[in-house]
Amino acid sequence: MFKKNKHGIQIKSPEQVEKMRAAGLVVGRTLQLLRESVQPGMTPLDLDAIAEKAIRDEGAIPSFKGYQGFPATICASVNDEVVHGIPTDKRKLRPGDVISIDCGAILDGWHGDSAITVPIGEVADELTELIRVTEDAMWHGIAKLRVGGFLSDIGHAVEKYIRGQGRYGIPQEYGGHGIGTEMHMDPWVANHGKGGRGPRFEAGMCFAIEPMVNLGTGRTKVLADDWTVVTLDGRQSAHFEHSVAVTAGGPLVLTALDGGEAGLARVARGA
Ligand code: MG
Ligand code: MG
Repeated sequence: MFKKNKHGIQIKSPEQVEKMRAAGLVVGRTLQLLRESVQPGMTPLDLDAIAEKAIRDEGAIPSFKGYQGFPATICASVNDEVVHGIPTDKRKLRPGDVISIDCGAILDGWHGDSAITVPIGEVADELTELIRVTEDAMWHGIAKLRVGGFLSDIGHAVEKYIRGQGRYGIPQEYGGHGIGTEMHMDPWVANHGKGGRGPRFEAGMCFAIEPMVNLGTGRTKVLADDWTVVTLDGRQSAHFEHSVAVTAGGPLVLTALDGGEAGLARVARGA
C-alpha cells in the first residue's frame, strides 16, 4: 500500500496525493487563521490554543504534540529563536518582534507540515526584508520540484537565491524532509549546496521545503530545554515551510490554500 522507490523515498498514488492535499489544507487554513489572529499582547501559548482547536475542529490531529515528547501543537520561535521554540505564556509578543509559527496535522493517516514567519506590529525594515527573502527562497526551492530534476537542486536554488539578496546566514544543520505517512521521512532536504546530485524527482514524491535564514551568521545552538534552536549571535531568524507533491504537471503545494499558484508565478516572473 505504501510504495517506496530504490532510494527509500515514499511514492504516493494520485489518490494518496489527494489525501495529502486534504491534510495540507488543514495546516494551511490553521496557519492562515493564526496569521489573522496574532497581535501584540498575545503569548505563543494563546496561538497554540487557537491552532489546536482549529486542527481538531477539522477532525485532524496535531502531529507535533507528543512528537519525541514535544508538548505543544505549534513550534513558536520568536526573534533569535530559529526553530522548535516551545510556546509558553511567559512572554507577551511585542511590536517589533518576529515569530515563526510551525504547525503539523494528521488527517486520515497523512501528514501536512508548514511554517510562516509574521511580524508583530511595526518591525524594522531589515526584518521585513528578512521575512521576504526567506519566503521567496522557499518558493525558489519549491519551483525545482519537477519530474526528472535532482533532489539537491532544491538546496542549490534556496542558497543561490539567499546569497543574491545580501549577507545572510543559513543554518546548515537543519533542513527539510520527505513527508507522507510520517512527518519526517527520507530524504533529508538541505537548504544549501550544489545542484544536479542525489535522487531524481518522480511523480508522487512529497517533501517539506523549509529554509531558515538569519540576519547574522548561520551558527546556532540548542537551549537547555533541548528543543529551542537559537542563533549564536542573538540576531533574528525567519523560517518558512510548505509541504509539496511532485506531480506530472509540476509542483502541487499541499499546504498552500491556492496550491502554490501565486508563489510559483512570482518565481516564474523572476521576482
Ligand atoms: Mg514544520
Ligand atoms: Mg518540517
